Amino acid sequence: MSLKNKIAIITGASRGIGKAIAQNLAKDGVHVILTARNQQDLNEAVESIGREGGKATAFSLDISDEKAVGNFIDQIKKITDSVDILINNAGIGSFAPVTETETQFWDQVMDVNVKGTFLMCKHLVPVMQKQKHGHIVNIASDVAKRTFAEGAMYCASKYAQDAFSSALRKEVRQNNIKVSVVYPGKVETYFNNSIPGVNEDHHRLHPDDIAGSVNYILSAPLHVVIDELMIHPISQDY
Ligand code: NAP
Repeated sequence: MSLKNKIAIITGASRGIGKAIAQNLAKDGVHVILTARNQQDLNEAVESIGREGGKATAFSLDISDEKAVGNFIDQIKKITDSVDILINNAGIGSFAPVTETETQFWDQVMDVNVKGTFLMCKHLVPVMQKQKHGHIVNIASDVAKRTFAEGAMYCASKYAQDAFSSALRKEVRQNNIKVSVVYPGKVETYFNNSIPGVNEDHHRLHPDDIAGSVNYILSAPLHVVIDELMIHPISQDY
């Protein structure tokens, strides 16, 4: 299915995986609407897409703030009647023993990874229901399906995001809305204060690898929904 002239909202699109997804979709003719909190990073991402001939718009948005999400959707309704694609990508995390995990950080991780995904869907599904089509792609993690020591908080958030997605898929399929989940292994991004290119672990995927899998999911024929897509670097031990 051609993606040309579709409209996609991508959260966490200022860097890392989200930015690569936005760049890749723009190359396929999608009007991409980038969101994240840092406006300057967003502006740079929009400019880089524009230089490649793509169509991009940016909105600063904290997805854990329901009022901000509601205002954002109101703004979107002013510029377009339809939103074809929602990519819930924004996410945070870090790894530590449970006994050393700050309760405040637990709340932040759940607020972004779980509540943020919920809020974006809560406010955008009605738009998709009205237009009688839509595709939601949630970027989870391979640790939405397996656990590891010192990953309790992050794994719990990703298991929750995965369960939410699976239940939502059953709820909205009657409205011709697809819900897909991508489960990446290690990816070279800014996640958890990493700096691409200077990390010691070279066994990582490139953000473009994830972006390619998202294009594959979105390009499936109208009658097909790819529920889940797990993607690892071949050298990762998991
Ligand atoms: P990243 O490079 O740190 O990018 C995270 C993005 O999320 C940034 O654009 C950030 O921008 C945005 N963000 C963070 N908090 C936000 C909030 N409250 N509201 C809106 N946007 C927010 O990380 P990444 O690796 O690309 O992560 C993207 C997704 O992939 C996450 O869901 C992550 O869990 C998942 N993932 C990553 C890996 C990996 O190895 N890197 C593996 C599996 C899954 P601002 O800070 O400006 O808001």
